[in-house]
Amino acid sequence: MDFSLGTPVRPFLRTRIAPTPSGYLHLGNIYSFVLTATLAQRHGARILLRIDDLDRQRAQRAYIQDIFDTLNFLEIPWHEGPRNADEFEREYSQVHRMELYHKALTELREKQALFACDCSRSKIQLADATGAYTGHCRTRGVPFDAPEVSWRLRTDNDAPLTVHTLGEPVVEGLPREQNDFVVRKKDGDPAYQLASVIDDEHFGVDLIVRGMDLWPSTLAQLYLARVLGREKFLETTFYHHPLITGPGGDKLSKSAGATSIQYLRKEGKTRADIYTAIAQNAGITEKVENWLELGTHLLALTR
Ligand SMILES: [Zn+2]
Repeated sequence: MDFSLGTPVRPFLRTRIAPTPSGYLHLGNIYSFVLTATLAQRHGARILLRIDDLDRQRAQRAYIQDIFDTLNFLEIPWHEGPRNADEFEREYSQVHRMELYHKALTELREKQALFACDCSRSKIQLADATGAYTGHCRTRGVPFDAPEVSWRLRTDNDAPLTVHTLGEPVVEGLPREQNDFVVRKKDGDPAYQLASVIDDEHFGVDLIVRGMDLWPSTLAQLYLARVLGREKFLETTFYHHPLITGPGGDKLSKSAGATSIQYLRKEGKTRADIYTAIAQNAGITEKVENWLELGTHLLALTR
């Protein structure tokens, strides 16, 4: 991958920062946002703030407010999407796009691409220790409208998927862990993979920056977009960044409390302290004052 300044870079229209309001933002989130903002700047893309609040049980108002407070405190820019929590609830919550998600689910049913599944998590785990779905309900004819059933996508098309990246495209099959992945959850709500594809296409996102841990999700989403014939999504460029780890080698996000920005602010940390802490985690020794300095350092590491 070549990020050197001076070389002409491919232009993109739009990328997004897409936090889930199920906890306070932590250093791992900020690391990802900084990479997104830096790549957006480099490629002339606008940044959309898209808050994924589909999981209404976990989404809390305090966490939504925290997203705005933290982005503002760290001066991370965004050009489109809600400016505050009220505007979010009023215009941008995923609740307002429910019709789009259900329309896609109807489309999938009409294509006979789905089957209903009443397996419990433990039953799936018992059938396969890795937790991959082994197709138990594929031919059982579980009614779609039965209570407590999820809807799964039949993933029997082995044609490889193409992931466009900032470098060469990567061609791969759907990973086993995504076999017959869920597109509608047992509670009747659309699943993350479906909502994410529909949203990104709806908003015209053509550059997606996310952690390497979401690589299997990217393949699942491309698979779904192919079934739905969403050509624009299939052309999306992806940048999967490595994950930074905490002192014990844990994912930074896992070491929760002490890495939340809210906590660090209460401890009196400044913006530069927070950016410098992320830099140190990534092995950068310089002091870092702002997101662009940090992002430039981080991208130089992947050169
Ligand atoms: Zn099943």
